[in-house]
Amino acid sequence: MLGLHNKSRRHASPLAACLMLVLFAVMPQSLTAQPSKVTKAERALANLQAQHREAHKLFADDLERVAQTCETHELKEIAARVRRLAAPVDPDVLRFEPLPRQMQPQIPAPAAGEFSWQVELRTFRKAYSIELDKLASQAVKAGLPSYAFQLIREVAFHDSDHVRARRLLGYERYKDEWVSPFEAKKLRNKEVWTAQWGWLPESHVARYENGERRNGVRWVTAERDTQLRSGFSNPWEIRTEHYLLKTNFSLEHGVALASSLEEFHRFFEQIFAGFFNDSKRLQLLFEKPATAARDLKPFHIHFFRSRDEYIAKLHKKYGQQITITNGLYDTDDLVVYSFHNPMEPAEPTLYHEATHQLLAAHLKPSPVIARDENFWLIEGIACYIESFRVADGEVSLGDPRSLRFEAARFRKLKDGYYLPLAEFTAMGKEAFQRHPQITNNYSQASGLVHFFMHYEGGRYRDDLIEHLRQIYKQAETGKRPMALEVLTSSNFAELDQQYGEYVLKLSQSLKEEFSIQDE
Ligand SMILES: [Zn+2]
Repeated sequence: MLGLHNKSRRHASPLAACLMLVLFAVMPQSLTAQPSKVTKAERALANLQAQHREAHKLFADDLERVAQTCETHELKEIAARVRRLAAPVDPDVLRFEPLPRQMQPQIPAPAAGEFSWQVELRTFRKAYSIELDKLASQAVKAGLPSYAFQLIREVAFHDSDHVRARRLLGYERYKDEWVSPFEAKKLRNKEVWTAQWGWLPESHVARYENGERRNGVRWVTAERDTQLRSGFSNPWEIRTEHYLLKTNFSLEHGVALASSLEEFHRFFEQIFAGFFNDSKRLQLLFEKPATAARDLKPFHIHFFRSRDEYIAKLHKKYGQQITITNGLYDTDDLVVYSFHNPMEPAEPTLYHEATHQLLAAHLKPSPVIARDENFWLIEGIACYIESFRVADGEVSLGDPRSLRFEAARFRKLKDGYYLPLAEFTAMGKEAFQRHPQITNNYSQASGLVHFFMHYEGGRYRDDLIEHLRQIYKQAETGKRPMALEVLTSSNFAELDQQYGEYVLKLSQSLKEEFSIQDE
């Protein structure tokens, strides 16, 4: 699959303009409209969500009492902090607070009759995390891996030393810290992670701080190093747990990008756990979480200093088409290519292409994914992932204010552009990529993925992820994926309608001009 990333987000792409042929031959398959019925998994989800809300309410009540006691002790700021910990979850975004690296220090026991907000807070948070952990186990048994991992993330947030949660999230204990097995190995080898230069042998750090750089077997000045790496033949190579990022732009910038990709990878594996594991394996994992160092080959990213260099590298293979992209995943060499653009952050493009790369990683080079139908989801999921953000350690995915989702609402509500799902899902790769309204369709695909991920607190999330898994599986087995109608037990017409209501409601809550309707 050529993971061409459609660059023109707001205006029609030249590619679409020159390929006006196509596609109305693809008509919706005849639909046996079945009445919507709630699936077993959906019932389980609704049930678990109700229990989750109830547990959260009791927890919030406990914390409110702690906050009030804080206030009577003149601890106003602490009271506010405690209340923030009890804030309800926003269903339209997946948002996770950072987990501390350090193990929690002991809290000294308060003297008899003394109030210790730390002790109270920790006790309530621990008790709540035990409840969440139980719900997570039930969720995985009910075939709701994405929700289960969401709960596990919440467990770790409230009790960051919860061993099972930490293991499930891919950490192991090293001295007084929680680190990944990869990091533990590095640390044992006397390497340290530096935010500026990545992993370095301990003995090199002082020299780096002094302005020296390692270039091959020699030590050179930072300026000389930059000169030597200006072509792409001798780039900086930044290795993190899952990535090998090569760049001739800047070492520091490359390290920052590789770190963001690493966060993206961790988050993606959790939220899309159902893509990578079948339900049996997930249950086993939940029963016996073990983190073992896996010697995986890293994903390769080539990040050029300029657009010109990027085009020069890829023009021969991809022709003019390359000039309308700002990144791509090459399914022959399995590399993600992108470049520094002073006008735009690089991360959304890298997340987009890294999603194509990650989802196809287990396949042999070059199978065509979604050749005959369902191609919208291949691009939709990658566009959805562009909304991934890391800020001060907090990660979030699906913020409805992100550009892609705003565009989707605009197209639907203002332009009135919408292809019904029966027609939209019927498009295979060619049809999708040559469609005269390709830009509109990218927007719609982004909006639809947001809908399937977040509608009614994630009612269809695991169905969508299962659908995605089956689409990629098809490239290996040839087995046709189950339609979303079947997986969600809602027919396309109903899903179309729910989508329309969903974007309108979101748009109104965001107070977007184009959603204000005449009464
Ligand atoms: Zn793409």
